[in-house]
Amino acid sequence: VNEFELIERFFRKLDTPRPEILLGIGDDAALIAPSDKAMVVCTDTMVAGTHFMKDDDPADVGFKSLAVNLSDLAAMGATPMWSTLNLTMPRFDEQWLTAFCQGFSELAVRYQVPLIGGDTTRGPLTISVLTGGQVVAENAMRRDRAAPGDSIYISSAIGDGHLGLAVARGDYCPRDEDARYVLSRLRRPEPAIHEGQLLCGISRAAIDVSDGLVADLSHVLKASGGLGADLKLSSSWFSPVARRYLEGGGDVVPLITGGDDYVLLFTVKPSMRERLDSLENLKPCEIGSVVETPGIRIQDEEGNTIPITGGGYAHFDKDIGPKT
Ligand code: ADP
Ligand code: MG
Repeated sequence: VNEFELIERFFRKLDTPRPEILLGIGDDAALIAPSDKAMVVCTDTMVAGTHFMKDDDPADVGFKSLAVNLSDLAAMGATPMWSTLNLTMPRFDEQWLTAFCQGFSELAVRYQVPLIGGDTTRGPLTISVLTGGQVVAENAMRRDRAAPGDSIYISSAIGDGHLGLAVARGDYCPRDEDARYVLSRLRRPEPAIHEGQLLCGISRAAIDVSDGLVADLSHVLKASGGLGADLKLSSSWFSPVARRYLEGGGDVVPLITGGDDYVLLFTVKPSMRERLDSLENLKPCEIGSVVETPGIRIQDEEGNTIPITGGGYAHFDKDIGPKT
């Protein structure tokens, strides 16, 4: 197959109509209708061997490549509108492509995100997705908008991504249903799109937890002028499966420093708490508060300090191998 047949066969059908898209796949570029809202744009690249394994189910890879981008839009409070896909592959593999597109389209259909363009090249397997969305500019949730006195929340449980990775690597062997659950949380993270939209106008500062709670919270605190956080660890931070891991003697630290959770971490001013509490479809977990003193301090339920060093994955840090 040549590149044009490939585009027609695999990608064209993902370009579903949407009123804001005047022209999608097929021309030199796509045309997007203007809007009175701010356009939100983000992109993420997944490299085989680093962000996923060559023999991972391509449907999961397709799903996750869009999921991680939609998660970034969610963290801004944006409504997703379109995506583009830059795909580099070592060779044409029909089965792989079919499954990849099926996983990708599952999320694209769920959130009405047409694929409006991209590029297809030969080389080491690499997937780069760009997504666009929109948000009322003054309601965008930004990393630099946290303030002392804000409460800190997570939109749902953290730690499952880390446990999923541990199961995938063979380092953790819980009962079958728990293994299946954490693996699906790792491979098919659900972007918190609806949560982000609900929080828009209530929370000022948010981030999606992709590098681990501690690292991502520190990004917000740093961007907001060098603030700190006092956190109160509780079992309510975790899913029932992660709680079973803890009850079985598992270490809590990797659950709060490990990545791949894709829940939203956000801060709310005291004056907005009532509005937050009144949300029907969002029951977030309060984990602590923003303070002036820089640094993140975590106390467990007995008042003991949890020692945290580092946390978060950095591709260009020395002495750290790539994430698998
Ligand atoms: P050009 O030579 O102008 O870069 P291409 O042949 O790369 O054009 O692409 C033709 C059309 O197909 C363009 O509209 C482009 O956006 C789209 N396209 C190419 N690759 C992909 C892909 N992987 N996913 C979605 N659309 C793609
Ligand atoms: Mg091209």
